[in-house]
Amino acid sequence: MKVLLLGGTGEARRLADLLVAQDIDVVSSLAGRTTNARLPVGEVRQGGFGGVEGLMDRLQDVDALVDATHPFAATMTEHAAEAAQRTGTPLLVLRRPGWSATSGQWVDSADVAAQLLPQAGTRAFLTIGRQGLDAFAHTGLWTLARCVDPPEMLPTWCTLLLARGPFTLEGELALLREYRIDVLVTKDSGGAMTSAKLEAARQLGVPVVVIRRPPLPPGVQAVESVDQVVEWLQARR
Ligand code: NAP
Repeated sequence: MKVLLLGGTGEARRLADLLVAQDIDVVSSLAGRTTNARLPVGEVRQGGFGGVEGLMDRLQDVDALVDATHPFAATMTEHAAEAAQRTGTPLLVLRRPGWSATSGQWVDSADVAAQLLPQAGTRAFLTIGRQGLDAFAHTGLWTLARCVDPPEMLPTWCTLLLARGPFTLEGELALLREYRIDVLVTKDSGGAMTSAKLEAARQLGVPVVVIRRPPLPPGVQAVESVDQVVEWLQARR
């Protein structure tokens, strides 16, 4: 059985570990845009496929497609759903559970988050990756933005912190205090690697704005754990 695994997440790396250990022929695919990306074990390919048609070509010699990309990698997930449907390739999406228990203001986009924050004087901590930052450029907020890699155009209007999780509660508490943060803006990424900030904000009474996940394409089958993906693949062997 040959599996194409769309990755770029810790879950995808763990899945590659398990599949290689079980002698399942897996090729992990990365977008190739993160510097010093942690590579999964086994065969790895990097770079986009060239849209749906390119992915369809790649699926010709594949028995199953697993989409374990980040919950906010919506374009890749849409392409995977369409390419799988058009080629008849079995597809399973792995989506780690979100942070639905987080109390705060839930919004649909970075633009909406930027519009609803109070302005002058507010000190906002943005943990939304580099892609949504521009929404905050003209808000007049003081902003600290934490990203893994710098945006292509370095923003002059915010303080940039380059760091990769996992983050600890102690570290997040210290950060919120040091920068005197009074609102946290985050995406509903889910997972334990970056969730300490939510507890730190709760302990310090810092309000949280959470950007909702993009919806999954209609009709795709999704599971929440790496083990469920392994079971699904074993059932098809
Ligand atoms: P995206 O907007 O959904 O995808 C844009 C394009 O990048 C896709 O159309 C595809 O190009 C290429 N691509 C994305 N993931 C790929 C993969 N695993 N293998 C090969 N090509 C891929 O994706 P994104 O939000 O920029 O995320 C890029 C990667 O970073 C993903 O692998 C994701 O798992 C990881 N990541 C994303 C976030 C986030 O917040 N978005 C956070 C952590 C990690 P073609 O159309 O040319 O095929």
